[in-house]
Amino acid sequence: MDPHSYTDLKQGRIKHISFIFSVDFSSEVVHGTGVYRFERQIAGPMFLDVRDLEVIRITCEGDELTWVLDEEDEVKGERLHIHNIPGADEIEISFKTSPGASALQWLKPAQTVGGEHPFLYSQCQSLHARSIFPCQDSPAVRFTYDAEIIIPDPLTAVMAAAPGELIRQDGTARCRFSMPQPIPSYLFAFAAGNLSSQDIGPRSRIYAEPESLEAAAWEFAQVEAMIVEAEKLYGPYVWERFDMLLMPPAFPYGGMENPRLTFLTPTIITGDRSLTSVVVHELAHSWTGNLVTNATWEDFWLNEGWTVYAERRILEMLNGRESSELDSVIGRNNMFTDMKVFGMDADPTCLKFSQAGKHPDAVMSRVAYEKGYSFLVALERLVGREAFDPFILRYIEEQQFQSLTTEDFIAYLNKHLPDAVKRIDLDTWIYAPGFPEDAPVFSSGLLEAVERAVEGYSAGHLPNEQDLKRWTPAQKELFLQLIPGTVPAADCRMFKVLLGLEASQNKQLLTAYLLTAIRSDCVEVIPEVEELLAHVGRGLFVRALFRTLASTEWSRDQARPLFEKFKERYHPIVQAGVTRVLEQAGV
Ligand SMILES: [Zn+2]
Repeated sequence: MDPHSYTDLKQGRIKHISFIFSVDFSSEVVHGTGVYRFERQIAGPMFLDVRDLEVIRITCEGDELTWVLDEEDEVKGERLHIHNIPGADEIEISFKTSPGASALQWLKPAQTVGGEHPFLYSQCQSLHARSIFPCQDSPAVRFTYDAEIIIPDPLTAVMAAAPGELIRQDGTARCRFSMPQPIPSYLFAFAAGNLSSQDIGPRSRIYAEPESLEAAAWEFAQVEAMIVEAEKLYGPYVWERFDMLLMPPAFPYGGMENPRLTFLTPTIITGDRSLTSVVVHELAHSWTGNLVTNATWEDFWLNEGWTVYAERRILEMLNGRESSELDSVIGRNNMFTDMKVFGMDADPTCLKFSQAGKHPDAVMSRVAYEKGYSFLVALERLVGREAFDPFILRYIEEQQFQSLTTEDFIAYLNKHLPDAVKRIDLDTWIYAPGFPEDAPVFSSGLLEAVERAVEGYSAGHLPNEQDLKRWTPAQKELFLQLIPGTVPAADCRMFKVLLGLEASQNKQLLTAYLLTAIRSDCVEVIPEVEELLAHVGRGLFVRALFRTLASTEWSRDQARPLFEKFKERYHPIVQAGVTRVLEQAGV
């Protein structure tokens, strides 16, 4: 059923795993054992997903079981075929990760803020849990777990689970955790490093390296207000805690919605709370994604389209409609950028398309996020919020702890919003490439101000300095998106000053500026580009910079050497992404 997993649900399901992990920073290997409990007794074979994982021993009630890695696939990894499980509901597997495990990034002390201790973290979405432990690595399978992580003292381990005992003894720290709510494997997560923490709300705490703690605690101090607004839209928050971990700069994503412990990129620490929409997004995943989960990665838009919808509704309640409509416009522009990379007729511009033989990371784009969002807004506008909001609450309540395919969702829509379904072209929205012409339009005074400035600039008038100073960071980003692809280098320099970028800590805005500057033959920005590529590992920024470097005449030859220089600093997912970008550009 799932094109990205060897899982065969007819054989049985994993229900609970008891892990012990021992982390060896010197060899960059995690040794693990897992006691796997099944939903019911299994008599016969079982297939599990693994990749670059050394399976050492499999036993059942003390007896060794025989097994073989009998299939291998570039996308799926290997099939661990356990031969005959003799009518038992528990087996034990010992295993060892490889230094190249795609879910793990091992950071040297120099790659951390403090510079004194190493750091390790996992990122399992989409197909990477299988490089840490054997599992039914499909979002359709949920299990609970408990874990003990053994690391060198004085490091601290954290997990996307409830923390338990911590014992420091003889140079090691043993950190215990339990996860009482069933999760799909992609939401398994842990990290270990020199971590401190601070409470920032009645159910929220921020973890960070001590050097970054204060800034992070300030930036995310409004988290409780976000949770309260989210509960109004989606119903009660069931994961008890919404803690956050500020990641080292190499973290590949903006955030990862690991339940109970969201992982966040440090690029959203701007000192002005202007990028905390990422926190709202990860929070919204607590319902859409973590509670109601896409059944396969082909249904990814169900996770992301809904989460962007909730993110903007929550931000509308907190910051007003003008601001959230502006976010929608910026989001849609970003989606069109991605669509053009694939080609407007290409499969990845559909909400749902066959991903057999393709890695979800390679076809993942903002299409799932923004086209999914626009589809949900179209439904909302057809029936009005008076009808749509109760539908949302009911959907979350009835589908919680379930995994849905796109077709399950369509059936649910047909049952509960039949009037909307009659008036919308579902097939076009979901299965056709490109973007529907009758998609909802967004409008906002903040947007109009930017459009006026862009029109004026195109007609030869420089933007008004006082106006630009008053703009929000989102308006500034949109301005950089909307001005022509290339502008005179002198204007580029002027925009940098007018947009206040010299004093800004906002790396998202800085990236948008650098992309314009590279396209505009502003050769002098290369040291700034290098500085960013050296210190930021967020894939969205890194890929965009390399794509633009590789597609602009003057910088084309510099793309490959720059990647060689910095690639070791990037997460394996980002390394693979940039490699694809450079191959596509032929450099
Ligand atoms: Zn998301």
